[in-house]
Amino acid sequence: MNAYVTPFAGGDTIASPSSLIDFIRSNTFDRPTLVLSRDVVAQNYRALKSGLGRADIHYAVKANPAREVIETLIAEGSRFDAASRGEIELCLSLGAKPEQISFGNTVKRASDIAFAHAAGITLFAADAEMEIDKIAEHAPGARVYIRLLVGATGADWPLSRKFGCAPERAVALMDQAASLGLEPVGLSFHVGSQTRRAEMWRDTLDQVGAVWAEAHAAGHALSVINIGGGFPAFYGDEIASPGRYAADVMMMVEQRFPGATRVMAEPGRGMVAEAGMIAAEVLLVSRKSDADLCRWVYLDIGRFSGLAETEGEAIRYPFLTERDHEATGPCILAGPSCDSADVLYEKRPVALPVGLRAGDRIIIRCCGAYTSSYSSVGFNGFPPLDVVVI
Ligand SMILES: *Cc1c(COP(=O)(O)O)cnc(C)c1O
Repeated sequence: MNAYVTPFAGGDTIASPSSLIDFIRSNTFDRPTLVLSRDVVAQNYRALKSGLGRADIHYAVKANPAREVIETLIAEGSRFDAASRGEIELCLSLGAKPEQISFGNTVKRASDIAFAHAAGITLFAADAEMEIDKIAEHAPGARVYIRLLVGATGADWPLSRKFGCAPERAVALMDQAASLGLEPVGLSFHVGSQTRRAEMWRDTLDQVGAVWAEAHAAGHALSVINIGGGFPAFYGDEIASPGRYAADVMMMVEQRFPGATRVMAEPGRGMVAEAGMIAAEVLLVSRKSDADLCRWVYLDIGRFSGLAETEGEAIRYPFLTERDHEATGPCILAGPSCDSADVLYEKRPVALPVGLRAGDRIIIRCCGAYTSSYSSVGFNGFPPLDVVVI
């Protein structure tokens, strides 16, 4: 097993996350700031690519749309999966070619479809009749892949219910697409974000493989299988290295989709999470009563300023403080806003140093994915997450 238990140990020639810690420790920040390393993004791309082999990587832009991330990935040869006109324009403006961009959102504004079509994008996702009607009208002749609803896999951040059609509807949608002059080329799905073990893909791949066979039997010579995202990041629970994990997934993919001349993968989290850390500050440490075992620790960043994925305590970020040599005690962690939902971890308290004080720096690790993208408004007057790229 190629266990990935020491991801923070630095390599000689690549910027490791310790370069992020060094950068944060040697600078001051007047607001919560995400510090991102281009080198770690490039390193993650290469690791995923090594395991994914012949699959094309379409980075899911929503995970982190910083221009430096997109530029780095363009330089590495990545392709992109975009969800809106804004994301398409971002990729095009930085030099991505339209044929390298898929429009993977299954719920698209008609004018965005027309924009994408005019820009030269030819690959679109759909999971419903009306969406296929819109694509046929605004992007005539386009290639479409049908997104399937798949059963829950045990992913930490499931994406299962909102997107995709039930397997038994897929062939009818392909028939409809073909009758409207579109080219039904394949299938897509998402196993759920932060699917910690490759083995957890197996049932989903079986379900999708069955629809693939059914579509071929119905006369649709599918050639594209889009396996979506789900590639995990290291939040403290042991995971396989990105290359090992991706290779294990690809081995299962290759057994199930005969005739697939093109495999697409859309990593988001696995590409950028470990490339970022947030420099944050402790605003208050308090006890609600003399009998309380847990302290409440209020940070200057919360659920509404970048840490949305703490919802349901699903994603558990690791923390670093300047007092990590001290004894620790259990803490309930909360954000700064005047909203009682702005509590990060309460059901499972976090162990933090007993001497933690207002004004202390706290580094939140593994924060490169789904933080700045969730933090675009300044709720309660707290500034949205600042981003610095090194
Ligand atoms: C968000 C998203 C992804 C990325 O998922 P991760 O779990 O972050 O890898 C991939 N594909 C689609 C269609 C998405 O919406």
